[in-house]
Amino acid sequence: MDKQIYDVIIIGGGVIGVSIAYKLSQNGVKCAIIEKNQLGSGATNAAAGVISPLFYGSDKSNSPMRKIRELSYEMFLHLDNEFEELEIESPFNKTGIFRTAFNQSELKLLIDLASKTSNLGVKSELISDRSQKNELGFLNSDILGGMYFPDEGYVDGIDFVNKFRKAILKMNSDIFENEEFVDFEILDDEIKQIKTKQNIFHGNTLIFATGSENILSKYNISNDLIISPVRGQYILVRTQDFDLPYTIGDGTYGQIDNGPQTQGYLVPRDNGVIYIGASKHINKNDLNLDLNGIEFCLAVAKKYLNNINNLEFISAGAGIRPQSKIGVPIIKKIFDNDNILLVSGHYTQGMMLSLGTAEIVKNYLLNFDQELFDLFNGMNE
Ligand SMILES: Cc1cc2nc3c(=O)[nH]c(=O)nc-3n(C[C@H](O)[C@H](O)[C@H](O)COP(=O)(O)OP(=O)(O)OC[C@H]3O[C@@H](n4cnc5c(N)ncnc54)[C@H](O)[C@@H]3O)c2cc1C
Repeated sequence: MDKQIYDVIIIGGGVIGVSIAYKLSQNGVKCAIIEKNQLGSGATNAAAGVISPLFYGSDKSNSPMRKIRELSYEMFLHLDNEFEELEIESPFNKTGIFRTAFNQSELKLLIDLASKTSNLGVKSELISDRSQKNELGFLNSDILGGMYFPDEGYVDGIDFVNKFRKAILKMNSDIFENEEFVDFEILDDEIKQIKTKQNIFHGNTLIFATGSENILSKYNISNDLIISPVRGQYILVRTQDFDLPYTIGDGTYGQIDNGPQTQGYLVPRDNGVIYIGASKHINKNDLNLDLNGIEFCLAVAKKYLNNINNLEFISAGAGIRPQSKIGVPIIKKIFDNDNILLVSGHYTQGMMLSLGTAEIVKNYLLNFDQELFDLFNGMNE
């Protein structure tokens, strides 16, 4: 039997790998994802999954980051329709995000930030009085008000990859789990041969989307491409008192120095579960849970809730955030080859930028719009 040659082989089945496979498969490109564990078992599994790509609005309007945010925002808004056509439930939970203010200066800052994003089409509502968002009575009484962003929300990493798995398989691409990439070779006819621990695969294009795991370091790649690990910790709790109706987060990112400054989120999950997190532990490349991380999560819970005594502790977890040296997602050609790419998530925003990242890669490989790919490809430390 002839060996199967995939158009594109993607190493790594996190949110980035599956998003790329999805976008390419939609365009008739036959992909294979090769994942050493299960889809979503890396950082994607640990993510809060907050989807609010345009909120971090300090980027200049023509910067690559602003453009990837705009692209991602647009694509998350359309995901429901795309998944409806595939008869799969969308993984994007458009619950809205309530960004809180604890005093007038925070509220003013939020209003300013919301007015900038409203120019980009992001809807927002001023919450001048906490009671407007507190029907269920769970909000901390120190919260003055804030801004509510109804079109934003969250994804659960595992739910996201599993729904994308269904879509990818429906579109005739393949997914191989428990297959660990070991090495690759460019054969004479430009076909890439990929060796995993058990098998050999062949493809025309090879994309490494392996998150924080520097599996390419043995090939002497440029220092720019080495990912710095940042551990993030979170806890899961449950309460019988209320179902969290929306994501709650900060909006000021330490830009003013009064008011509680713990920058974390409360994010709804199924069955009354609430995700609380997530901390950042620079250069920690292990999944150990330390008390600083737990303390951070407790501070987030106390910041937003009026009573944490009725929260039942379910579990704590961690993931390794992929932080790039260039501070933005890596989307680059490597090994001087137009058909070998390295594509990474972002250490705090990889979920929300995933669909834009995948669109950029798709546009490059299919010779559509190359502008954004060229911009990211040209970014150096
Ligand atoms: C605690 C925490 C909270 C976060 N919160 C948010 C948030 O609210 N919003 C947001 O947008 N982002 C958030 N992020 C960031 C986001 O999770 C990441 O940017 C994103 O998940 C990265 O996706 P990825 O596909 O690049 O990496 P990963 O999800 O790590 O996927 C890489 C995959 O490659 C596989 N792999 C590695 N080596 C091999 C090999 N040799 N062979 C085959 N497969 C291999 C791994 O098993 C893994 O599944 C958070 C991250 C953490 C840790």
